[in-house]
Amino acid sequence: MWEVYRRENSQYRFKEERIKDVRSTSARKRQKQLRGQEIIPGIRVQIQPNGCMICTWAKRSDGYAIKGTKINGKTKSFYGHRLVREDKLGRPVKPGYFAGHNCYDRDCINPDHLWEGTPADNSRDAERKKPLSLRSRLDMP
Ligand SMILES: [Zn+2]
Repeated sequence: MWEVYRRENSQYRFKEERIKDVRSTSARKRQKQLRGQEIIPGIRVQIQPNGCMICTWAKRSDGYAIKGTKINGKTKSFYGHRLVREDKLGRPVKPGYFAGHNCYDRDCINPDHLWEGTPADNSRDAERKKPLSLRSRLDMP
């Protein structure tokens, strides 16, 4: 249900952007940033064959997709996977909790690959699921 809605919504937005492109030549510059599928407003992804949705935002050195936005003159940074998780939950991730990944791609923001848990849950879950070679890679925050 959710995904169908998003897909339709994103196609609609895409069409809208295309119409703008025809009208204005300066819009062509923006086209590069508009590639990919928009899963929630402002967040676009490239869908991988394994179902992972890789965020088109810049990646931090630790692998998380992040974007800085100015709010009331102050720059605030957002994690792509957290925003998507919160969008699916319909509420913020609880204090002290974070959005973890089922897959091990920190850049992935597929809502079906994300879950809310405590850091302790995450380490336990990670230990159980990860192959030995990956056990040092904790998925935080
Ligand atoms: Zn994934």
